Amino acid sequence: MTIADLRPTDEVLELRARYRAFLDEHVVPNEPALFLEDDEADALVERLRGLAKEEGLWAPHLPPEAGGSSGSFLVYAHLNEEIGRSIWGQLVFGCQAPDAGNGEILWLFGTDEQKERWLRPLVGGEVRSFFSMTEPEAPGSDPTTLRTRAVRDGDQWVIDGHKWFSSGAEGAAFGIVMAVTDPDADDPHRRATQILVPADTPGVEIVRAVPTMGHRGRGWTTHCEVRYTGVRVPIENTLGEVGDGFRIAQKRLGPGRIHHVMRWLGQMQRAFELMCSYALERESFGSPLADKQTIQNWIADSAAEIQACRLMTLDAAHKIDGGDEARVEVSLIKFYAARVLHEVIDRAVQTHGARGLTDETPLAGMLAMARGARIYDGPDEVHRMVVARRILKSFAAGEPWRFD
Ligand SMILES: Cc1cc2nc3c(=O)[nH]c(=O)nc-3n(C[C@H](O)[C@H](O)[C@H](O)COP(=O)(O)OP(=O)(O)OC[C@H]3O[C@@H](n4cnc5c(N)ncnc54)[C@H](O)[C@@H]3O)c2cc1C
Repeated sequence: MTIADLRPTDEVLELRARYRAFLDEHVVPNEPALFLEDDEADALVERLRGLAKEEGLWAPHLPPEAGGSSGSFLVYAHLNEEIGRSIWGQLVFGCQAPDAGNGEILWLFGTDEQKERWLRPLVGGEVRSFFSMTEPEAPGSDPTTLRTRAVRDGDQWVIDGHKWFSSGAEGAAFGIVMAVTDPDADDPHRRATQILVPADTPGVEIVRAVPTMGHRGRGWTTHCEVRYTGVRVPIENTLGEVGDGFRIAQKRLGPGRIHHVMRWLGQMQRAFELMCSYALERESFGSPLADKQTIQNWIADSAAEIQACRLMTLDAAHKIDGGDEARVEVSLIKFYAARVLHEVIDRAVQTHGARGLTDETPLAGMLAMARGARIYDGPDEVHRMVVARRILKSFAAGEPWRFD
């Protein structure tokens, strides 16, 4: 593989420019209205989604056979950098978390009936979904300790448990619930199963949308506490095989983490552009901020770090396209890019002084949203541990680690 393999083709560049133009024309100017998260904002989102569909920019994360418009993971990485410039891009183009990840595992592991019933309306943007794994009483970093149980009763699962941070659960049509089905399995990674649960099933209670840094919390932007009490669903709602919960989660979370990083690149780049423009425009002590060495250092460091994130992301995407799970690459970029995201936005805020804290630029909102990146889909510390363990294992076996 060479750097040239990662570059966008002319066709991808043209498509990328179309996403950028759509975003600049329809999404960015509407951000203040979208952030109100009221009925008018919901109507606006629907209108923009209709427009994105008309322009053939819908669901770029899935292949056409699954109802999407994707070329490959690498192509999606290039497009997602544009989509990610606005927090609302993913929702407008129908590739929002957690629906994108849920769509991918339904596509990979769903039966024909499940694809028809759950995937088709999900990809079509008719419904939303949630992914319900993390629990308040168990460490999300170590999901082998999950407590939510699903017990087989005839041709039904009966689910009892308590989850939180089920993103987007408010107003969703269904959730994919990770539940322990075989607590005694020798291999802790064979104990859980993923089960499709319609949100209106008796016993499913959305207790509250947990107020969270950076999210006002309505509908898609909620992170919900959910109780499952005697929830009965047919056995046919099992996604994949019984005991496959972690295997499927790995399939979902690997690409899902990279999806996040692709969008973060858009956020970093946007913050970087705002920082550079403002540094040229604002003067203090008789010269533009751009003349101060500290600001120049921030610009140079940010440029280097963003480009490093971009290349690592494209490399991981390229490997995933080739059938590799790229687990080390994904963990590496997840913790590294989460930190760069925060740093770059924070530098841009600092460059803007008090203005950076107002809602007159998008930076304050971007900074608040960025903090969660170091926690969701696995905290930094866990991803570092994965990377270090894999490298050390290689050295212990007498083979110095190297990236191919
Ligand atoms: C915005 C947001 C959206 C989310 N959406 C979803 C969702 O849709 N569905 C879902 O199921 N979950 C979701 N989550 C939950 C998320 O995946 C978990 O928060 C995450 O996995 C960490 O689990 P925890 O919060 O229980 O932290 P814990 O596991 O309790 O860990 C707490 C802290 O301990 C430290 N730590 C843990 N293990 C180690 C270690 N081995 N070495 C060193 N330090 C360690 C880390 O600093 C960590 O932050 C979301 C979270 C956020 C913030």
